[in-house]
Amino acid sequence: MNRVTKAEQYLLDKIRRGNTQAWSEFVDRYRGRLLSFAQAKLPQSADAEDAVQETFIAFIKSLQSYRGECALETYLFALLRRKIIDAYRSRQSRHDCLIQDTYETQGDDKSTDPFAGLAGPAQTASWYARADEKYELQKSTLTEALSELVDGFKSSPNFRDLQIIELLFYCHLSNKDVAKIMGLKEKAIALIKHRSLKQIRQRIESSRIPIGPSSEEFENLLTDVWKLQRFSCPKRSTIGAYLLGTLDSKWRQYVDFHVNTIGCGYCMANLQDLREQNANKQSRRLAARIMESTAGFLKKPR
Ligand SMILES: [Zn+2]
Repeated sequence: MNRVTKAEQYLLDKIRRGNTQAWSEFVDRYRGRLLSFAQAKLPQSADAEDAVQETFIAFIKSLQSYRGECALETYLFALLRRKIIDAYRSRQSRHDCLIQDTYETQGDDKSTDPFAGLAGPAQTASWYARADEKYELQKSTLTEALSELVDGFKSSPNFRDLQIIELLFYCHLSNKDVAKIMGLKEKAIALIKHRSLKQIRQRIESSRIPIGPSSEEFENLLTDVWKLQRFSCPKRSTIGAYLLGTLDSKWRQYVDFHVNTIGCGYCMANLQDLREQNANKQSRRLAARIMESTAGFLKKPR
């Protein structure tokens, strides 16, 4: 499954041919949000800048092996995350959702890190890097099943169940913790989880792809795929609309939940980047206005 748009593909092709301007355009496009993400994880600003620089180096080095399994932005974030983990080996920075730091109930999350092997083709520890056909099929079937589930919630719209599923599968929290966050009974959460898993399994069975025998393994795989595809992350343009206050109330509440309650690191970084872009634009506009209105006074002809 290719997650790269035509425009992105065109840009990547130019970069692959060594076009400097295309590369500079690419760096400009992603630098801000990556830096915001790094700054949230690394206290020293110079460290954050180093990590972003190394991310772009890693990207250009691995450009040939990028196969478009996940969106470009997610791929870059994964590379960056790897750099941050390499630098600090801190448990906190392993998480994609801040809320996981508050509700640490899942024990060791080593096996659920989908980006562990992303740094280069030599590291094949994670299933992501596995190229065998069975894994490819499992991944793409699960991707379809999950994206159908999420799209169903979005188009209903049923943001409550979407939030629950996000907490369960994206953040990998327990039923008990999800119940606490949502203010619902644990039984209600279990029911929604059961229903969703059933729908996903049915979808997979109909395609006759055998997936992991144990339910724990299956759920870990769901989290891996979710982190890779970021089904519930709002688009950058939606985050922009949230910032400008032009979203309808249901979507606004949802984006607010995703960014502020879940604390999705990727979307927080986008929000921060857009905020700074807006502030820059505003200050440039103001600067232009000031220049325009003062130019006449600057040098009066005598
Ligand atoms: Zn997100």
